[in-house]
Amino acid sequence: MIYLGKKVMSIAIVGDGVRCFKCGRQAAVRVRYARMNLCRDHFAEYVEMRVARVAERHNMFDGIRKLIIALSGGKDSTSLAHIIMRHRDAFRIKEIYGLHLDLGIDGFSEESSHVVRKVCRELNLKCFVLPLRDLIGYSLPELIRISRRPPCSLCGMLKRYLINVVSVELDADAVALGHHMDDLLVFALKDFLVQGNFRMIKLSPVTLGIKGVMAAKLRILHETCEDDIILYANIRGIEYVRSPCPYKYVDNFKAVIREMLDKLEASSPGFKISLMRRLIKVADVKAEGEVIRCKYCGMPSSSGTCSFCKFTERSLGKPLGYDVRSRVRDLIRSLS
Ligand code: SF4
Ligand code: ZN
Ligand code: ZN
Repeated sequence: MIYLGKKVMSIAIVGDGVRCFKCGRQAAVRVRYARMNLCRDHFAEYVEMRVARVAERHNMFDGIRKLIIALSGGKDSTSLAHIIMRHRDAFRIKEIYGLHLDLGIDGFSEESSHVVRKVCRELNLKCFVLPLRDLIGYSLPELIRISRRPPCSLCGMLKRYLINVVSVELDADAVALGHHMDDLLVFALKDFLVQGNFRMIKLSPVTLGIKGVMAAKLRILHETCEDDIILYANIRGIEYVRSPCPYKYVDNFKAVIREMLDKLEASSPGFKISLMRRLIKVADVKAEGEVIRCKYCGMPSSSGTCSFCKFTERSLGKPLGYDVRSRVRDLIRSLS
């Protein structure tokens, strides 16, 4: 039984008698963008092979010795961890770490940390689970109440900052992010339509790092659609958090873009992949812009004070970046 959990546009369940293109057994799905029918095993292999090819095409792992996989516990990041570990030797990565930030959200965060720990154990992956409360003194819900900032924007800023701090303190070469093609396209198109911003830096398969300031960011799933990940995770029996974060909300603008892209994909299979490839070509994807170090914590900023120090100064009365960096250092040492 294949669980897809939602209407599927890029792959379709096939009926009895349809044969797998690779082995001739009963096929399970039709991969519409590739015009191929595949059985469960060959579908999972196909997803792994495509991800590896994309990584190769963009030389993602050239020179990467130490890698962090950012793990939320959701299907995207846990699937990504499985795929990377399967290709670990081919990618020639020496050290790989899983990293999870425990946001302190009742119920949801316990489940997420539990899943991340379990997945890392199964993959024999060294795992850092960092509780936000131990680092800053507050959980995400408490910080939302204090600052009155929109939850996801605050959460995103904290995650970006803390992942970057860990990558610098661990001297990692890169951080692998679990963002898939659908989310990246929707994000970039909304940014363009609402802000007129065509740099689309978030679409970049690789954002280059700067030694001692920030690690490179690898978007290894940037040509993998969400349908493929859902099916892949289910075929491989990958555990992931199924309950949604209580702060998750429906962004209507994004939902409309997503629906439009899904319709275009349905009428013209492969549309999303070619759109992604075209956008990457025209967008100024590798430029990170000038990096100025934060005067408080030394992490990158655009104006001399990083977003984290600005936020903590405004909401908690003191820029906490410097303290948090030393706490992260201590936590890493105690967990190593
Ligand atoms: Fe953070 Fe929002 Fe995601 Fe919840 S839904 S984990 S608050 S970004
Ligand atoms: Zn097969
Ligand atoms: Zn700072």
